[in-house]
Amino acid sequence: MRTDSFALRHIGPKETNLKAMLDTIGVDSLEQLIYETIPDDIRLKSPLNLPEALSENQYAEHIGKLAAKNKVFKTYIGLGYHQAILPAVIQRNILENPGWYTAYTPYQAEIAQGRLEALLNFQTMVSDLTGMEIANASLLDESTAAAEAMALLHAVRDRKQKKNDVNKFFVSEEVLPQTISLLQTRADFMGIELVIGNHEEFDFSEGFYGALLQYPGKYGQVYNYKDFVAKSNEAGIKVAVAADILSLVKLQAPGELGVDVVVGTTQRFGIPLGYGGPHAAYFATKEAYKRNLPGRIIGVTKDLDGNHALRMALQTREQHIKRDKATSNICTAQVLLAVMAGMYAVYHGPKGLQYIADTVHSSAVSLEKELKALGFEQLNSAYFDTIQVKANAFSVKEIAEAAEINFYYPDADTVAISLNETTTPEDINNIIAVFAQLSGKEAGRIKELAKEEAIPAEVARKTDFLTHEVFNAYHSETELMRYIKKLERRDLSLNHSMISLGSCTMKLNAASEMLPLSNPQWGNIHPFVPVEQAAGYQIVLKELEKQLAEITGFSATSLQPNSGAQGEYAGLLAIRAYHESRGEKHRNICLIPSSAHGTNPASAVMAGMKVVVTKASENGNIDVDDLREKAIKHKDNLAALMVTYPSTHGVFESAIREITQIIHDNGGQVYMDGANMNAQVGLTNPGVIGADVCHLNLHKTFAIPHGGGGPGVGPICVAQQLVPFLPGNPVIKTGGEQAIGAISSAPWGSSLVCLISYGYIKMLGSKGLQKSTEYAILNANYIKERLNEHYKTLYSGERGRAAHEMILDCRPFKAKGIEVVDIAKRLIDYGFHSPTVSFPVAGTMMIEPTESESKAELDRFCDALISIRQEIEETSSAEDENNILKNAPHTAQMLTSDTWEFPYTRKKAAFPLDYLADNKFWPSVRRVDEAFGDRNLMCTCPPIEEYMEA
Ligand SMILES: *Cc1c(COP(=O)(O)O)cnc(C)c1O
Repeated sequence: MRTDSFALRHIGPKETNLKAMLDTIGVDSLEQLIYETIPDDIRLKSPLNLPEALSENQYAEHIGKLAAKNKVFKTYIGLGYHQAILPAVIQRNILENPGWYTAYTPYQAEIAQGRLEALLNFQTMVSDLTGMEIANASLLDESTAAAEAMALLHAVRDRKQKKNDVNKFFVSEEVLPQTISLLQTRADFMGIELVIGNHEEFDFSEGFYGALLQYPGKYGQVYNYKDFVAKSNEAGIKVAVAADILSLVKLQAPGELGVDVVVGTTQRFGIPLGYGGPHAAYFATKEAYKRNLPGRIIGVTKDLDGNHALRMALQTREQHIKRDKATSNICTAQVLLAVMAGMYAVYHGPKGLQYIADTVHSSAVSLEKELKALGFEQLNSAYFDTIQVKANAFSVKEIAEAAEINFYYPDADTVAISLNETTTPEDINNIIAVFAQLSGKEAGRIKELAKEEAIPAEVARKTDFLTHEVFNAYHSETELMRYIKKLERRDLSLNHSMISLGSCTMKLNAASEMLPLSNPQWGNIHPFVPVEQAAGYQIVLKELEKQLAEITGFSATSLQPNSGAQGEYAGLLAIRAYHESRGEKHRNICLIPSSAHGTNPASAVMAGMKVVVTKASENGNIDVDDLREKAIKHKDNLAALMVTYPSTHGVFESAIREITQIIHDNGGQVYMDGANMNAQVGLTNPGVIGADVCHLNLHKTFAIPHGGGGPGVGPICVAQQLVPFLPGNPVIKTGGEQAIGAISSAPWGSSLVCLISYGYIKMLGSKGLQKSTEYAILNANYIKERLNEHYKTLYSGERGRAAHEMILDCRPFKAKGIEVVDIAKRLIDYGFHSPTVSFPVAGTMMIEPTESESKAELDRFCDALISIRQEIEETSSAEDENNILKNAPHTAQMLTSDTWEFPYTRKKAAFPLDYLADNKFWPSVRRVDEAFGDRNLMCTCPPIEEYMEA
């Protein structure tokens, strides 16, 4: 046996465990289990056509060679992306640290206080710099954030505007091209009329509800928007501004002008370009709009003892709950990147940011002076970091590329040059040399940076920012390292124990997959460089597209969507475009089973569809008769069915082919939500079940870490008839011949983390991928059988098997006063993160172990749940709230307190099973009070005195 095979490292159970596990389940072989799990008519007949697996060492060599094919030029393209310096202390202690990158979205606040604090820092940083009252903890990129602003302002129109259906949204032509393209994609289906024009000629009198401005403009010109905003406010038009976060250090905060929303990217706060992403976008607004704010908001609250605690606020706004009434479909965000950008601000503090912004600005001023001395005209009358030079673009490009320099060329006579944090005087001299060569003159050389300012006093920033203690305390590496560690210790991640979140697929994120992310040959590539400079990326992305098409049984892939929900939206738009291409634009009905994830209906509504919910039958499956009836009833307008497979109930429904046939017979297309793809890879696929398009969550099935709530990648794979409609990009050609427009800012979305999935597939190969799926199913069914006597599994397939996850019914314990959250919180005392709570069925837990967990870990987890089941039995009655479950989790502070007034021992509270003596995780707060925080909403770092009081 090869012991260097990656599959051995990735898959938890050993061959020697297999017999015992199969015995517990009651089957003779893995083949038999799979036979009993997956319906015969959808099994693949042959193995996946993918190359042999590489060992980890072979892969390191392979990916290193590809990295060397990328040409890392000095790049001054700008357009929303600027090279930045990732402080090494953040790279090592966060980006490369599984304690941070393997965490999940902080739904279990008691074991997530670390990243919650880091995200609160991010929100505070954004609020300070933008001058707004409230900010969320990240959106997917600047362009989608701008689209969310367009939607939010539409949702909060005043009564008269709503009554008169005022639906025009003005977009300044100074807005970034990728943002305009994305707004066009979105506006169409929301009944919004987009008007693009010059903001200086804007007519405030007619029929607009909102406007979007770029600050500074796309090629660097800084405008004073004071009058525009004042006139807009007078006319009842609400204004959103897309602002460069670093420029706000030197420019007046848009909030001071009275705007309603400020959005942008925080990429240049230390995040690698990564050929487009991932980067965290920000969204800041007025508190009055808090219920419409998309994405996650972190808020301050208190725990059971009244101590300061954090948690995600106002969850009732989200698509999970509001479904087709939701105003946004965002689920996975960019938490890891937001944590890093926030930490960049913590590390540099206000003085450090001031220094960086001043230096960037002075560099641009110095460059302008020298170019003027050479006789070139510069167009921007006021600017922060970007100048526009009049020169023959073609000639400049030739000389610049020979010198390994990229500029941006707005037209044949203009060169836009965006400087950044990494630009040195030497770099500036090299730029000057390009223009000197063009003009045939002697190049001047700068020795020190100019002192002049190109920012007029009336738009200069005059207010403080980052005054909070946290931004002024950790400026040495020792201090910051310890601060990061302090926060990390409060969080339970995969480097402590299994996180068996059903539907979320928390599997191993292997170090070999992650390592290339730190390589600057991958990190320092701007998304808009000429494609031939990104040859390494192009090979990886094309290959990954092909691999995913093979795995799904489809024809082509788009890697552009930055999350599963974004993929849903892209896939539905492709379906709409397909219908339209056949003269069937009217098809707008989307059937969605009642058990669907909340993003499904939210995405369908964003795509301009009407949602018709279909029933579940008694055994949890789709009620085929109800589905047929509704498909026939709507056959003239049926656009699509959205179906999750295997179902969100963790079952391979055997009627699936009949279901997809019914939809096709009635003129619809089938969208398969691929969140559960971990149960399919190598055994069956969306093509075989009869779907036409699916998204994959590369951050679930394909090993991208969840990062505490992002990044994600949600590619869509499509059948032949949908290929022409794959999403495009206005700057770099990509996508289909009749592309639906941009879905994300960057042509290939979050390219950098696509390396992880590429490595995953390369190192597992066809056999390893299939084996992973088989072991995911094995592990789930093992847990199901081990817990069988103690908990009821709600649904199973026809032969009694679960797929890769199962739902445990916790509703019967209500008779004892025990809710499913009590079990979730008690699991913390046992060192485990709770499984998914109350999705897709209220009062239940959904467990998905994945293939990466060993038998020993599965056994520990089962022992914990069985022990908790015993504790439920021991609780006396529903009236008595003072029991070990209701009081969970138990903190070290409680345990070591001088008084102990609980009706059970301290040992039982904290060390109920023996394994805990060896490896105990201590939650940093007691159970948090959700309602208190929502009533007293506070979304920025509270003053230090508040901690003292508590
Ligand atoms: C995770 C998930 C989604 C949404 O994916 P994101 O990447 O979080 O946007 C959609 N459907 C199902 C079933 C999921 O589990």
